[in-house]
Amino acid sequence: MHNSTQANTTRVWRRLRIVTEDCAQRLRPERYHLHVSENSKTGSSINVPIATTCQNKTAACTQYCYGLLGPISLQASIQTHVENQAVLNRLATASYKAVKEEADYSAAVLTVRGHNFLRWNGVGDLSLGSVRLLRALSKQHPAIQHWVSTRSAQLAAKLPHKDNIHVMFSIDQSTKPKDLTAFRAYIHASNGQAFLAYAQLAEDDVPPTDVHVVFAQHKSAFRAPWPPLPQTCLATVSLKYPSAVAHDNSCISCRRCFDKTLREQISPTP
Ligand code: SF4
Repeated sequence: MHNSTQANTTRVWRRLRIVTEDCAQRLRPERYHLHVSENSKTGSSINVPIATTCQNKTAACTQYCYGLLGPISLQASIQTHVENQAVLNRLATASYKAVKEEADYSAAVLTVRGHNFLRWNGVGDLSLGSVRLLRALSKQHPAIQHWVSTRSAQLAAKLPHKDNIHVMFSIDQSTKPKDLTAFRAYIHASNGQAFLAYAQLAEDDVPPTDVHVVFAQHKSAFRAPWPPLPQTCLATVSLKYPSAVAHDNSCISCRRCFDKTLREQISPTP
């Protein structure tokens, strides 16, 4: 990474930590339920603070993590992430009845929006509270598909292998071999419900052959100029290629990250 870029991302990371601590002092008591975010690309998502939940970030994370840039890194968004984590921390030790009530609330939000899938950790990562809530949601509301982005094999191991839970292990060129081994062991036991997604940072940055989704580097309007691989998410492909799709509604239309059958139609590179 270029030195000035590295210095900048280190600064942003430090600022996020300060903002997170500051937000924790000002939790709004009325925020009893989770805030389910909504955006035009990924639909509904639950976001939590990266400064406290991303325990397994890689050396390359700071080059492409969109949680470090733009509106999602500003104080108002981080306040929401911190409040979400406060709800999840409460659920980590709450009664099953309380967890189920929160599951019913999130399911109702999705129903009102007409969404039948939920992205977990649009920014941030799993925690004991989110694992409990996910378990309850997948059991009580089986028609909702859960797209769970994580770098924690340890917390993912607390999730059941169910048809409506799709665990996406995010990796890049700097993922530690021991983490990759743990992810692959989980995937092997998951009967196709878990998969690898690779953040591709250069044209010669070749993903492992068992990756099912490749995210070519993209930030705001920038999209990597290199040609797509068969597994590349089309919403990250440069618009100069005919296969590229616009961001708006791309996940609702595509569904590969939360539909096992569609995922298996895209063969990893031989
Ligand atoms: S592969 Fe499809 S579902 Fe996954 S992020 Fe890209 S557009 Fe969304």
